Amino acid sequence: MTAVTLKNVSKVFPGETLAVDSLSMEVNHGEFLVLLGPSGCGKSTVLRMVAGLETPSDGEILLDGEYANDLPPRDRNAAMIFQTFALYPHMSVADNIGFPLKLGKQNGAQSVPDAVGDMASALGISDLKDRKPNQLSGGQQQRVAMGRALVRRPKLFLMDEPLSNLDVGLRAELRTEISSLVRRHDATTLYVTHDQTEALTMADRVAVMRKGVLQDVGTPDEVYERPATMYVAAFLGTPRMNLLEARVNVYLDRYVALDFGEQELRLPWHDLRGRAVARYHGETIVVGMRAEALAPVAEGHPGQSIQGRVRFYEHHGHETLVFLDIGATAVVPDGIGDKPDLARSGSKPRRRLGGLFSGFGQSQVEHREADTGPIRKPADLVFRLPPHIPVSAGQPITVAVHMDALHYFDKYGKRIDV
Ligand code: ATP
Repeated sequence: MTAVTLKNVSKVFPGETLAVDSLSMEVNHGEFLVLLGPSGCGKSTVLRMVAGLETPSDGEILLDGEYANDLPPRDRNAAMIFQTFALYPHMSVADNIGFPLKLGKQNGAQSVPDAVGDMASALGISDLKDRKPNQLSGGQQQRVAMGRALVRRPKLFLMDEPLSNLDVGLRAELRTEISSLVRRHDATTLYVTHDQTEALTMADRVAVMRKGVLQDVGTPDEVYERPATMYVAAFLGTPRMNLLEARVNVYLDRYVALDFGEQELRLPWHDLRGRAVARYHGETIVVGMRAEALAPVAEGHPGQSIQGRVRFYEHHGHETLVFLDIGATAVVPDGIGDKPDLARSGSKPRRRLGGLFSGFGQSQVEHREADTGPIRKPADLVFRLPPHIPVSAGQPITVAVHMDALHYFDKYGKRIDV
């Protein structure tokens, strides 16, 4: 039995906004599941429906296997933690943490001061117990808010961007603390964020959303290494995965060429990958290459490589990101952030209902933003150089391509399994 089950859950807000589109997903007992996606994709709405603060327009929510669409929030044994801390300003830290226990929502036989003491020490704030919230830093306030939610040992934690008001250093520190605390309490957690680092470092599994539609669910490794859609591939990872249009040309019994326009890569024909890609003979697909699949080599390198000229580069301290002009066409999935470049793509945005794999595509309700389809533009192939290697604009560079690390997507943006 799962802790939380969503079956084809949709939410339409007044004004016909389809915030969540036929979403099905399960959170297992004791699991830390992160809902990841850009602002407005519907993550908070999912969380609020699980909390009972919103009612689904369609579909079912089960908690511990029981139908829970109409269950009042107080009967869900769930604690919600938001990005704003909302502590009681007139109460001390200790009283804030102990407050839920005094309301009688106690779990276990421990006395209130003992439970508060244990919680304060687990959170590293024992010496702040007598202070008032306005005498605390943002990070300390968030720890108190966490303590107040944890103290009554709920079975389910619902966290909505709890770290987004904190500075970078504190966020990194609290990331580790939150995941170890909830794991120690054996609680199930549904955690909402737009921050991929939080998702990849904290989650047992990550669920990636786009415009109300679930795109992919899996362990951090699975969604990073085998993204189900081009959107997920582009959303996860820094720098963003290179996504290049390629025409597939099959030379029977010899090789399968990925033709990028001015140059090509070849997959062996007698190879499972070659065979899988060969099915798209004559079609245009998208080939994904993360920066880590690319490495500069000397000209004349015998393996598979791509050549280009440096368009620009960025020093990042520990590495330099180099952007190579390779005469190919890049694809930016809809919703990833680049503005449509209509002059370059030569097409008008299409207004279309439903996401890539939307089950709601034929309905009369509209998404918040029209889908424009992917954007096409001249490709910059991005790869990394160690910081001490000199590089200059216009310089010709050859990069070796690690062919085992390529990703392939069809014209709908769906992963081609190889
Ligand atoms: P963020 O990270 O910015 O909070 P999100 O992914 O959590 O974004 P939601 O808050 O779930 O997104 O919102 C999804 C969509 O539903 C948005 O377009 C939002 O404007 C809309 N929406 C949310 N709540 C309501 C509401 N009460 N009434 C009408 N529309 C709403």
